[in-house]
Amino acid sequence: MDHVVALAAAGVRKLRPYEPGKPIEALERELGLTDVIKLASNENPLGPGERAKAALSTACNDLERYPDGSGHRLKAAIAEVERVSPDEITLGNGSNDILELVARVFLGRDRRALFSQYAFAVYPLATLGMDATPEEAEAWPAGAGMPFGHDPATLVQGLGRKPNVAFIANPNNPTGTWLTPDELEAVLDAAPSSTIVVLDEAYREYMDPALRPNTRILLNRYPNLIVTRTFSKVHGLAALRVGYSLSSPAIADLLNRVRQPFNNNSIALTVAEAALGDHEHVERSVQHNQTEMAELSGALAELDCRTLPSQANFLTFHVGHAADAVQQRLLEHGVIVRPLGGYGMPEYLRVTVGTESENIRFIKALKESLL
Ligand SMILES: *Cc1c(COP(=O)(O)O)cnc(C)c1O
Repeated sequence: MDHVVALAAAGVRKLRPYEPGKPIEALERELGLTDVIKLASNENPLGPGERAKAALSTACNDLERYPDGSGHRLKAAIAEVERVSPDEITLGNGSNDILELVARVFLGRDRRALFSQYAFAVYPLATLGMDATPEEAEAWPAGAGMPFGHDPATLVQGLGRKPNVAFIANPNNPTGTWLTPDELEAVLDAAPSSTIVVLDEAYREYMDPALRPNTRILLNRYPNLIVTRTFSKVHGLAALRVGYSLSSPAIADLLNRVRQPFNNNSIALTVAEAALGDHEHVERSVQHNQTEMAELSGALAELDCRTLPSQANFLTFHVGHAADAVQQRLLEHGVIVRPLGGYGMPEYLRVTVGTESENIRFIKALKESLL
């Protein structure tokens, strides 16, 4: 065992694998439960829309053929919605794939990646996997207006040290916090021309429209910018693994060099294209999220569980020293939420906004689980 570990590339030896939210089936097997609910991975509780579901049935033809490796149709659809040209788009097997492609192209030994403290866990993984050095920008303290959120001032300082890549999640997971468009611009203005900036917008659709940056303007102004998006969250297609990036054609060309030739399967390409055109489903999902998040944060406040401000589809709330034990008890009630010890926030739990009945069940279980 030790012998093969020593054979691994230097970056890989330091890695600890990503810990996903516990699957429903795993908990049901372990505890002999049958009605487990999972509010741990920020999926859309409404699932995919009707258009995506209808496309799924036709997408299963021609399974013997390789998919269109260029993703022509999906790119054309994205180009129209985003007012970009197809050569500014890179498709990924989830946006996670794009983050890995960025690391492969722009990181490596003796290179550095900047991200905020409490930022999405994939950034350090992608960085360490390439044997590059992570640099953390200190986040806002717990008592700040944007507790645990990205601090523009420390990001600007970090950019002054000319990292090769900077990852910015807006809104951030696991905190739900965000940068205003002005703060984001100040950060982007501070990025030297030698730094590739990744703006991860996995939760963009959930943001207040006034807080959403204008992607087209940003791409025109910042040639080193890569914006990532996903079909895993508001589009309800996490299982299919589709994400994409918007960037200059020159950056897209570099990402394309290291991409697997068929990184998106044909079913995923077809269904994502249908989902992209389903504005009603996106609208309904965002509406649902707003209504239910208000209910959920009210109920958490009544239980004295302070929530972090969130522009996403989840709430991160304070439990205190007993957070681990409370999370364990929630599991025994058949409710899976996300512990945040791995993020350095051991007193907090993160809950995804679910369906109305899931949220009611979560709150009831939490009441019985708080010590
Ligand atoms: C969920 C999430 C993603 C999306 O990952 P996929 O690979 O597209 O499923 C990306 N970034 C952040 C911050 C996320 O929370």
